[in-house]
Amino acid sequence: MQTIDAFDKEFPDETACKNFLVAMRWPDDVRCPRCKRTEKVYALKARPFHWTCCNLDCGGRKGYRFSVLTRTIFENTKISLKLWFKVAYLVLTSKKGISALQVHRMIFGEESTHAYHTSWYMVMRWRAAMRGDAFPLTGTVEVDETYIGGKDRNRHFNKKSAQVRKAKGPQALGDAVGYGKVGVVGAIARKGNVVCKVTGGMGADTLGGFVRNTVDSKVTLLATDEKEEYRYVDRRMRHEAVKHSAGEYVRGEIHTNNIESFWSLIKRGVVGTYHHVSKNYLPLYLNEFSWRFNNRKNSEMFADLVQGVSD
Ligand SMILES: [Zn+2]
Repeated sequence: MQTIDAFDKEFPDETACKNFLVAMRWPDDVRCPRCKRTEKVYALKARPFHWTCCNLDCGGRKGYRFSVLTRTIFENTKISLKLWFKVAYLVLTSKKGISALQVHRMIFGEESTHAYHTSWYMVMRWRAAMRGDAFPLTGTVEVDETYIGGKDRNRHFNKKSAQVRKAKGPQALGDAVGYGKVGVVGAIARKGNVVCKVTGGMGADTLGGFVRNTVDSKVTLLATDEKEEYRYVDRRMRHEAVKHSAGEYVRGEIHTNNIESFWSLIKRGVVGTYHHVSKNYLPLYLNEFSWRFNNRKNSEMFADLVQGVSD
């Protein structure tokens, strides 16, 4: 990822941002977002970045008009693309995670009278766009479960939220509404990708189902802890467990150190950056952390993210 100066130079204005979005959405021909065809799609000469689709079963003779923003997360907002892009840049380049409030302050400054809600909305939409099918995982895969949130956070919640409310108004709590201990299960391929998911429970069905969906059955090794529920994973897999209860954490290549490091990263982010995490929004934070992790060596991560903004 480039520096912020280089980023600002690449996207100096709306035209530059829109050109980039066109190239990402439609690398070849412009495709109608409604009927998904490229034929009979014509640029509107008087309106840059607008097209009309004249396929009979779509726009017909009158044409269906659309713009580069149609059916993207940017549609129907009054926010400039330049601002949207800047927010994505900040989220992508903050390794420890960045809260909407921090983004807001970095963009508008401490004394800003801009609505915090706008920054919050953009950050949330970007997090939602950070989805991706990073599975099935292959090679040596570690699976583990954890709980995020909990009693300590609850105790601090009222005190901190009162301070935040005082400083920024009630909307500043947008990141924080609804909290508690939430179960999360995750899998990581060594030197590869991570996949994690909020779960309702930690039963054998849930954990087994997660493994079936995310881990390739031809995996070289599946490493977990000794939790009983993992005994029922696919029998075709070579599955080994470390006995944490007996003080065993590593037995040769059998350990869950990588996924545990990932949990630490998320927990530090959640506690240190967001202060609270809501059960409703936790999947979005997981998206953000997983996406950043899975794209850690990808110099085109911004472009890849922008490619994912439309349906
Ligand atoms: Zn069409």
